[in-house]
Amino acid sequence: MSAQPPVIQFRQVGLTYAGPPPVVALTECNLTIERGEFVTVVGPSGSGKSTFLNIAGLLDRLTHGSYHFDGIDTAALKEAELTALRGQRIGFVFQSFHLMPHRTAEENVTLGMMYSGVPRAARIRRAREALIRVGLGNRMGALSSRLSGGERQRVAIARAVAATPSLLLCDEPTGNLDSASAEAVLTLLDELHTGGMTIVVITHDQVVAGHGNRTVSIRDGALHEGAAI
Ligand code: ADP
Ligand code: MG
Repeated sequence: MSAQPPVIQFRQVGLTYAGPPPVVALTECNLTIERGEFVTVVGPSGSGKSTFLNIAGLLDRLTHGSYHFDGIDTAALKEAELTALRGQRIGFVFQSFHLMPHRTAEENVTLGMMYSGVPRAARIRRAREALIRVGLGNRMGALSSRLSGGERQRVAIARAVAATPSLLLCDEPTGNLDSASAEAVLTLLDELHTGGMTIVVITHDQVVAGHGNRTVSIRDGALHEGAAI
């Protein structure tokens, strides 16, 4: 039996922005995230959380060390290959939703699968299934500008998971939500985790950090196991 590779494997990962002056945003980070984990990443402002997300999400290249994503050495990939891998295997959820306001919930989710490799005919079916899964089966035809913040974030989550990515990466997913909507989003993330999704959530919020099976901290560009701040 061959074991599945980890979703994320960082070995001595670092990123130094060229500057001037050069900024060491991440340094000597070792991290393994196995399939099915739900990991929260905490750290103060400026500690390197966004840099971590950009590297993990294949948006930025590292300047030191190695990153294997799903067992693939990302250093070997050309820009177009990185883009394709990202489109097919990583779902993103941001604090400010990033939906197209004049499109319906269903259109937002369907369009989000454009670069996912899901065949055209299957995209609408997948979009509907994902919206039902996030509890918006009755709002599929609503313009996203007409939805509440909590509903918008659930559309964004549906969009991120509709193509069944290997990794769901969330940056402060409850940062713009009232506490009831935040709770609904967290419940949804817990359900996705129970269903086997690998999830990484970057957060400032202690309540959010209490979800998932593991917390790592970033401080001055260095990763540490546990929530210690
Ligand atoms: P966080 O998301 O935890 O607030 P960031 O990852 O955004 O932290 O930033 C980490 C460090 O890298 C900070 O010192 C920040 O000023 C610096 N930084 C971020 N982006 C750039 C960039 N494009 N060029 C130079 N320095 C940057
Ligand atoms: Mg940030």
